[in-house]
Amino acid sequence: MIKQKTIKDPVVIEGIGLQTGSKTKLNFKGAPANSGINFIRVDLPNKPLLNIQSLSFDKSMGNSRRTTLSVGPVQVQTIEHLLAALSGLGINNIIVETDGVELPGLDGSAKEYVTTLEKAGIVEQDAPLRTITVEKEIWCSDKDSFLAIFPYNGLRVSYFLSYPTPSIGEQFLSLEISEEVFKRDIAPARTFCVVGEALVLLALGFGKGSCSKNTLIMGKRGPVGNNLRFPDEPVRHKILDLLGDLYLVGMPLIGHVIAVKSGHKLNMEMVKKLKEKI
Ligand SMILES: [Zn+2]
Repeated sequence: MIKQKTIKDPVVIEGIGLQTGSKTKLNFKGAPANSGINFIRVDLPNKPLLNIQSLSFDKSMGNSRRTTLSVGPVQVQTIEHLLAALSGLGINNIIVETDGVELPGLDGSAKEYVTTLEKAGIVEQDAPLRTITVEKEIWCSDKDSFLAIFPYNGLRVSYFLSYPTPSIGEQFLSLEISEEVFKRDIAPARTFCVVGEALVLLALGFGKGSCSKNTLIMGKRGPVGNNLRFPDEPVRHKILDLLGDLYLVGMPLIGHVIAVKSGHKLNMEMVKKLKEKI
């Protein structure tokens, strides 16, 4: 029997939100079996709790830059990198106390979330792991973006992206996702945007906490003021986002995910379809 997992000791992480630029502190605490992923906004009156498993989903949760959880006026923004880390490490139950609306962006990847959660110690719980197995293909599309999941013995992600910016161009990567592969090949991949887009986002009031150190600002020849960790770091980050978004289903997925230029919005449509199956 594969068992559920949580963290052993409480751990803390803090940093600046990439979009809002505000500093947020997160307290991670272990949670009982079958309690799922829980966010608590400790800065708000009555400390509202948002439980991933019991939320209903719609496409509006994903915009072009981030994924947001909301119940009425209560929100937790930019959750995808932490969720990817939880998914990659196989953590099923956790309490995440946050004292701000947006989770820390850290270095723009999931690397620091992984090391912090590993420092807490990951422990098995006395309850069987529940998974969602795709038995018949599911797909959705939006203009030139496409996202499908096919039956598969395990979890595989195949992603294709294409950008007119020459330093990104066309990238394709297909990986069998294990904890080891996630930690080595996906978790360190940082978020990116193209030079022109960076200026537009700043003018719109987004990306207040972004800089060339936590966001790869891709110019003609490569990232401005930074170096790539992988030659194909953008496609790896897209896989990171996709894994984080899909973990909103609330349990590990068994299937082959095939994505063409899919982003948070389309990922949310897939989450909604998967949730309807549970
Ligand atoms: Zn991302």
